[in-house]
Order: sequence, then C-alpha cells, then structure tokens
Amino acid sequence: MSAPQPRPEVFSVASYVGGESVLPGFEKPIKLSSNEGAFGPPPSALAALAATGKKLHRYPDGSSARLRAAIGEKFGLDPAKIVCGNGSDELLTLLIQAYGGPGTELIMSVHGFSIYEIAGKLAGCTILKAAERNLTTDVDAMLALVTPQTKMLFLANPNNPTGTLLPQSEMLRLRAGLREDILLVIDAAYSEYVDREDYDPGTALVDAGENTVMTRTFSKIFGLGGARLGWAYAPAPIVDVLNRMRAPFNVSVTAAAAGIAALGEPGWLEAGREHNTRARTRLEARLAQVGLKTHPSEANFILVDFGSPERAAAADMFLRSRGLIVRNVKSYGLPSCLRVTIGTDDECNLAAEALNAFVHG
Ligand SMILES: *Cc1c(COP(=O)(O)O)cnc(C)c1O
Repeated sequence: MSAPQPRPEVFSVASYVGGESVLPGFEKPIKLSSNEGAFGPPPSALAALAATGKKLHRYPDGSSARLRAAIGEKFGLDPAKIVCGNGSDELLTLLIQAYGGPGTELIMSVHGFSIYEIAGKLAGCTILKAAERNLTTDVDAMLALVTPQTKMLFLANPNNPTGTLLPQSEMLRLRAGLREDILLVIDAAYSEYVDREDYDPGTALVDAGENTVMTRTFSKIFGLGGARLGWAYAPAPIVDVLNRMRAPFNVSVTAAAAGIAALGEPGWLEAGREHNTRARTRLEARLAQVGLKTHPSEANFILVDFGSPERAAAADMFLRSRGLIVRNVKSYGLPSCLRVTIGTDDECNLAAEALNAFVHG
C-alpha cells in the first residue's frame, strides 16, 4: 500500500458518461444525444472566435466583466449578481464544495440531473433522492426528506432527462417550505426553450432572498457546448463565495468572446425556441401516431417510453443501424426510455421515420 490513495469519496462515483457521438460505419451520424441545440453555434459567435485568435497570448479578464454585462443586459439582470463559469457544471460543483461536505445532506429528485449526485458524493455529501409524480418533481416528497443535516436542494427546471416543468407556484411552495439556511439551486439549463407565460427561470426567487441560486448555460439554445460557458445568478454573499472558489481564469478568452457574440445574435433565442416548440410538438404527434408514449416536455428533447427495457434497447439498436444516436437513460433509472434531442426538421423527420419503421418492423 505504498501508492498514493485519494480520499475515499473519489471511488464512490463513476465518471460522468455523456451522450455518445461516434457510430461505427457512419461518417456523420445524426447526434440527438446531448441536447446541444438544433442549429449549431450562432454565426456571430464564429466570427468573434476568428477575431479572438490574435489575442490568445493574453489571459482572460478573470472577472468576465464584459460577458457579465452582456448577460445582464440580455436578461435584465444585475451583472454584479452574476458569476461566469467553465460550463454551469463548474458552478454547480463549486456550490456543492462550498455549502456541502461530509455530514451534510443534498436533496434531489430521483430522476434529477446526474451531476448533482456525482459532485455531491465527491464532496462527501449524503445524497437523498425524492420520489417523483408522473416523472415530475414532487415538492412534498422533497420537503419530507429535509432533516437538520440538509444543506442543499438541487432542481433542474425543466428537468433533464424527463423534460418536465414544475410550475412557478410549486417553486414558490418549495422555497417557502425549506429552512432559510438551506440553499436552493435552480438549474435552468433549458429555460430559454420554455414557451409559457407563467414561467420564471429562478430570478424571482434569487432576488427574494439570500438562499437561492439560478444556473444557466450557453451549451443548449446558444449552441456553445464545446466552448464551456455557463453562469450563475446569485445573492451577493453567494457571488462572493463563488468568486473566492473559482479558478482565477475559469472562462477562456474564446468562450467569453463567443458568448458575448451569441447574446448579440439578432433573433437567435426566439428562432431557436419557436423551432423547438414546433418540431417537438410535431415529433410528439408522430410518435403518438405509432403508439409510442412520450412524456410532456418543455425542453429541447423528448423522453420516449418503450414500455420495457428490452424494447428500449431494441429501439436504440435500430436507430443506430440507421445512423441515429439518441441517449439511453438507464443510468437515470429509466431503462424503458430513450431521450431524443430535438434537432433540425430533417433530423426530427429521420428520427420519426426510423421509430415508425421500428414499431412496424
Ligand atoms: C446540459 C445541462 C447543463 C449544462 O451544463 P454545462 O456545463 O453548462 O454545459 C446543466 N444542467 C442540466 C440539467 C443540463 O442538462
């Protein structure tokens, strides 16, 4: 036993496995496995990247001031309450490292996003998972898990991989039912896709107190997953904590430039949301026609229920044989389901045709 040994928490998790991107035999498989946005990066982001090359010898502005100002302007938020990160994953992880730790409990939903569990276990937290109702977060089940050791509660709204949304009235009830010293983290990675009047991504709850944080990402509707860029909107004391903990230059020059440009791309958000709602509704209808059950989604993906793990696996194989990669969600405890990202119209058509052929073949 002379080899260096890490802390025992390290071996309590498996490495995160993302959506696959390679399919042997297909040069350009259709990748509907990681919810990356249907249209690629905004053209203005590509132009900004090209212009940034000449400045790559310079360190970034560690405070991401210009990027925070651009985010604040776009979404009507105070830049002083924004912290940018190397993907929102970084910020979620830092929050857990800051407020969690051995002896603390972190509450999430049984089909909540896996990063909360991975980062929580690595930090030494005990993870408590609340049952859901119709694959939707159940506020009462979450509140019932709270103990004196509970320090944090993580919730994606809409949730990945289920796609379901918790109404604002339920979000308010959740916050009101939690002790004031419990940090509520609202992961709004898919907020830009939500097409509902009464939706609030989390800003109201952040502004209402000192114990709620909202995280956002450039990886989905903005099409910049490869750049690694996310942000948190948080009360001042939590902003201070995140700024102490983050790496000094956690947002690269290229990510910041692409992000600022993407925010300024005219009509990008609206076009992305409109396409998504239309294409998702159409795909849902076509799957219903062939008798496949889908769960109501407010995000840029659909969770398709095949009724059994065997049939889901067979559908996955069939889609692969046609060059389509979707996401199996076995690790989320949903072995009978596949998660299909909303791509372009052509990609959605291919997915619908393939699933039609699967059902009838
Ligand atoms: C995709 C996703 C994110 C984004 O993570 P990044 O690190 O910003 O790419 C965060 N939360 C959920 C629930 C997601 O699905």
